Amino acid sequence: MIEQNPSEPNTSNSNKIMVLLDKLKKIDIKKIDIKRFDIRKLKKFDIKKLKKYDLNEINFRRVLILFMVVVMAGLGFTGYKINEIRTRGFDVFLGSELLGKVRTEEEAVSVMADIKRELSNTYDVDVVLDNELNFEATHCKEKNLISDTDLRNNIKSKINFVVSGYSLQVNGEEVGVLKHEEDAQEILDKIKEPFVDIKDDESKVKEIKFLENVNVAKKEVPLNKIANSDDVIKYLQTGSEEIKTHVVEVGESFWTIAKMYDTTVDELVEANLDKDPKKLKPGDEVKLLVPKSKITVATVEEIEYVEDTNYEVQVEYDKNMYANQKTVKVEGKRGKSKIVANEIRHNGMLFEREIINEEVIEEPIDELVVKGTKEVPKTIATGSFLMPTRGRISSRYGMRWGRMHKGLDIAASYGSAIKAADGGKVTFTGSKGSYGNLVEIDHGNGYKTRYAHCSKILVKTGDKVYKGQHIANVGNTGNSTGSHLHLEVLKNGVNVNPANFVK
Ligand SMILES: [Zn+2]
Repeated sequence: MIEQNPSEPNTSNSNKIMVLLDKLKKIDIKKIDIKRFDIRKLKKFDIKKLKKYDLNEINFRRVLILFMVVVMAGLGFTGYKINEIRTRGFDVFLGSELLGKVRTEEEAVSVMADIKRELSNTYDVDVVLDNELNFEATHCKEKNLISDTDLRNNIKSKINFVVSGYSLQVNGEEVGVLKHEEDAQEILDKIKEPFVDIKDDESKVKEIKFLENVNVAKKEVPLNKIANSDDVIKYLQTGSEEIKTHVVEVGESFWTIAKMYDTTVDELVEANLDKDPKKLKPGDEVKLLVPKSKITVATVEEIEYVEDTNYEVQVEYDKNMYANQKTVKVEGKRGKSKIVANEIRHNGMLFEREIINEEVIEEPIDELVVKGTKEVPKTIATGSFLMPTRGRISSRYGMRWGRMHKGLDIAASYGSAIKAADGGKVTFTGSKGSYGNLVEIDHGNGYKTRYAHCSKILVKTGDKVYKGQHIANVGNTGNSTGSHLHLEVLKNGVNVNPANFVK
């Protein structure tokens, strides 16, 4: 032991201890729960006694050690306590799937909100997520926390979302789901547009509506089920999004194409109203489907027009006229009416015309026809000629050997019957120059027929003959080489080609 000044070091040492003990008091000893350390001992420790102690180095060291143990225990507890607070965190789940650990719920919720916002912005649609985040309290170290970026990517890779769309339905059939309610309305407007857009200022569409029951309903669908407006319009207008076509090749017609695709010519014609079936050429595109609209735009339009009105035909009978005769006594004339009508069109095609008002501008004039009732005698010309005899055409009408041959020569055996080509009156019989024996018949309708080179004549001038009556026999009289009939047809006194009349 080293002798010391009794007062000074002692005083200073005990002061130091007092200060330390004061600090010690401030530590809430009750909360210290260190089992090995017996706190009771600390309580029994009488500070007053401490003063009495000969504060030699040993005692002081003992107190100091004790003190340090207490301080360290306190600090340890405090550290533990701080650490417990600092490591509080949450396991983040998407549905039941663990995504990672975060310190606060707010940061995960904010990441989720960001993702939602981003999806909504990207697809311009209201996004509905199939799973929400949920949390479970836990502890974790800083280094085990998931970063915002990782959490974002993790959520994105696992999340399924649907979008809130608008289902457009026609008679209960969904024709497409649109992003916005306005999109559906726009589609309907566009369908109506061609039928409201009037180039002619005079036509007035009074009403436009759909015949079908059309409605729009909110619906949650996967993003890929959101339809493109143009596709929906096309589907509504044609009933299918794609119309197959066939490119015409050489030699093909609607008939061969119809056979090829197991359809009918009528259907092809209907599907290709813009094409003339007779003018189909290689390279033309033929539509194979009849576009069938899913939706019908009905328009009611008031129109005004002037219409010709038909006249009626009145008949009068005259017993002095032959039954096959008729004359027009009064010529009929169509009238005019101004019509006001409602035209109902379905997709532009006229469906019905309701006449609202009809105003006669000009009355029609009825036609008056007089018909004969007298029995027609057989000798009256029928207007058509028969072949007077059977035989071979040996010479035709026209130029022959530099001269005009005015008739048709029919070679027939001598004595064969010659029949009147039509009914009429005999105007000449007898020999006449190069004709030899000739019969001429006036048919009373502008036509005359002549039969030449006859061997025998069986009628007299002035006789009335009927069509097919045996009037003479074939011969070889006059300027003739060989037995034949020379037949002439005159129209208003002028020779015409008999071949155009006799059949
Ligand atoms: Zn002749």
